[in-house]
Amino acid sequence: MNHSPSFATTSRPSNHLGDFDLVVVGGGILGLSHALHASDRGLRVAVVERDLHAVGASVRNFGHLCITAQSGAARSYADVAREQWLRIGRQADISLRESGTLVVARTEHETAVLEEFVQVHGAEEARLLTATETADVLGVESGEILAGAHLPLDLRVNPLVAVARMTELLRDRGVAFFLGTNVGAVESGQVLTSRGVLTAANIVVAIGHDLDRLFPELADQYQVERCRLRMMEIKAPTGRVIDPAIFTGLSLLRYGAFAELASTTAVRADFMSHRPELLEHEINLMFTQRPDGALVVGDTHHRGRVEDPFELERSDELLLEETKRLFGLDTVEVLRRWRGVYASSPMTDFLCETPLPGVRVTAVTTGIGMTCSLGFALDSLNSLLHSPAPTAS
Ligand SMILES: Cc1cc2nc3c(=O)[nH]c(=O)nc-3n(C[C@H](O)[C@H](O)[C@H](O)COP(=O)(O)OP(=O)(O)OC[C@H]3O[C@@H](n4cnc5c(N)ncnc54)[C@H](O)[C@@H]3O)c2cc1C
Repeated sequence: MNHSPSFATTSRPSNHLGDFDLVVVGGGILGLSHALHASDRGLRVAVVERDLHAVGASVRNFGHLCITAQSGAARSYADVAREQWLRIGRQADISLRESGTLVVARTEHETAVLEEFVQVHGAEEARLLTATETADVLGVESGEILAGAHLPLDLRVNPLVAVARMTELLRDRGVAFFLGTNVGAVESGQVLTSRGVLTAANIVVAIGHDLDRLFPELADQYQVERCRLRMMEIKAPTGRVIDPAIFTGLSLLRYGAFAELASTTAVRADFMSHRPELLEHEINLMFTQRPDGALVVGDTHHRGRVEDPFELERSDELLLEETKRLFGLDTVEVLRRWRGVYASSPMTDFLCETPLPGVRVTAVTTGIGMTCSLGFALDSLNSLLHSPAPTAS
């Protein structure tokens, strides 16, 4: 099967760039995770990234390593990834905040979800907080806040730093990076790029939402869409350092371990009756703080096979209105706004296929790739290479 016949046969350069045990296409977190595990095995690895440095979903996110709220396979991957993040955090000097997540409850129904969560998962996973304790973390008056929960296992990174440092770490270990190099086609044993051909026994494709550009049949099969998200950074709303990531009632609807609780139904019903617009824009009001104090605010979710180029002003208004409400502010100063896009599939959260011998196509098809990629990639690589990895220290 040739996915782009014209590319391979016409005027493209045919110079041989090198031979490797593994070539990874895509320099985002999922591609880097595969490269890391392959380099742990002592393989000769190359990463091909179309931009001069990764600027995709992996640097546009909150940097929230959201372990506790995952369920099923995502939780297993997140647990492995947590250990891996702590390991490479030390090796690559990535500052990992072991500060957990604070979930803020502002209705009786949201409080009931937190209580049920603690009952089901136990005190190691979550600790209930009073309204005053919760408000104190945010540096605000309690106001509408009724309760909170602290999820201590969750971590936080600055995604820009994490991806850059992980790239440096891999380069120091001898991984070859072909940056500013677009991949036009992948065949068994070779990767055809805009600069020449790489050969490899095994190839991993981790190109996020652009999966349809190289493997349209797989994108069709898994109904992969582009989910675009609106994000912004605002000036620190209070003088307080807000160490944990912050979740609100809307977050309870999004993540498996909360969404599957019986008590969450009432929270969804409340939003449907009182704030349907927040659900229409699929808002998950959450925050993480940058090292300089700026607060990352997001997010919204709009899906389509094709990426809609237009931004909805109302999405931003809603995010800002809700932020002001939580922090009791009249105004907020927006420093930067951006759009992020990730792959989304109604059929799986972890796409992992082998369409050609020695060619693994992967994607995290929901918004938890920072949390899970280091675990998912380990599984993906082990199955591609048909043997478990040696224990890495
Ligand atoms: C706004 C936003 C907030 C999020 N927040 C979180 C969060 O807090 N926690 C969490 O766990 N997850 C979060 N996510 C999800 C997470 O960021 C993604 O799941 C993850 O980054 C996907 O990683 P990736 O490597 O698959 O994709 P990407 O980061 O998109 O990387 C794919 C790379 O492939 C390259 N590429 C594509 N095509 C080619 C080609 N033909 N040739 C060469 N290179 C190519 C691209 O340039 C890109 O660098 C968020 C996502 C967004 C958008």
